[in-house]
Amino acid sequence: MHRVFSGIQPSGDLHIGNYLGAVRNWVALQSQHECIFSIVDLHAITQSYEPRELAGRTLDMAVGLLAAGIDPERAALFVQSHVPQHTELAWALGSVTPVGELERMTQYKDKAAREETVPAGLLNYPILQAADILLYRADRVPVGEDQLQHLELAREIARRWNARFGTDLFPEPQPILSGAKRIVGLDGKAKMSKSLGNTIGVLDSPEVIWEKLRPAMTDPARKTKRDPGTPEICNIYALHQHLSTPDQVERVAVQCRTAAWGCLDCKRLLADNMIAALAPIRERAAALKADPDRVREILERGAARCRSLADETLARVRDTMGFAPRPGRAGS
Ligand code: SF4
Repeated sequence: MHRVFSGIQPSGDLHIGNYLGAVRNWVALQSQHECIFSIVDLHAITQSYEPRELAGRTLDMAVGLLAAGIDPERAALFVQSHVPQHTELAWALGSVTPVGELERMTQYKDKAAREETVPAGLLNYPILQAADILLYRADRVPVGEDQLQHLELAREIARRWNARFGTDLFPEPQPILSGAKRIVGLDGKAKMSKSLGNTIGVLDSPEVIWEKLRPAMTDPARKTKRDPGTPEICNIYALHQHLSTPDQVERVAVQCRTAAWGCLDCKRLLADNMIAALAPIRERAAALKADPDRVREILERGAARCRSLADETLARVRDTMGFAPRPGRAGS
């Protein structure tokens, strides 16, 4: 059994990109491994955000994760800022991380190019990510392909820290790549992301799902119903592969290539399957939203467990790095 860590930003309601690309895999992993899942609000503040919305978005994300199947009896679910040890370890790891390594991260370069003034938090983001994982000495991390570079840096940081202080405290975390590749948004161009407005929410009503799917981008070669298409380049076909039966996926490909149906017929089938798949999640989410105290209690239980694990690691980190013992806490 491995110890698995993964995090998700508190972007409010879960969307199908989060669900198909990550969370569905987390739900499967929690029955095979010891899993720790975090809503990473400390990462969220490295870009512009609305402070009045942060707590609500965090709670909404917790509702979405629990409704999607994260089971607090099997996995620890917590809010990152409720375990302040994450930032303490990040500071310690920063002492062995070269700035040049941080500056060459693709995500940093992309995001920094859009900012007038680049906050230090954006540069240091991957150190905090390394701390998230290493704090629990997790050895497996489910990641999308776009996060592989950061995970490689986390391994490098673990190696450097172990070498600098002559220890093997930190394991080098390995990726678990989910079967789902990057889930593309309804614009058919970029990764599905709330900030790009190209998402379908897991909790959207059937009517809203159809309203969003109807105008979604398809193969541009299909200008009219009579033009045959190429399903492999169409994002609607990609979504069918996640949400429709193998027979239906095959039929979609044939109907598309032979122009036997229009894109609206194809989208209607996808909408029906999506609505059916999400119905139980919507139902569970409604029950959780009606009982926010229960959600807060689950998060607090998760944080308490993680604080205790984090304390064990940090006691060893402080000792290894040579800090003076804290008064009244021998060895920490
Ligand atoms: S028929 Fe379906 S797979 Fe083909 S282009 Fe239209 S939406 Fe895409």
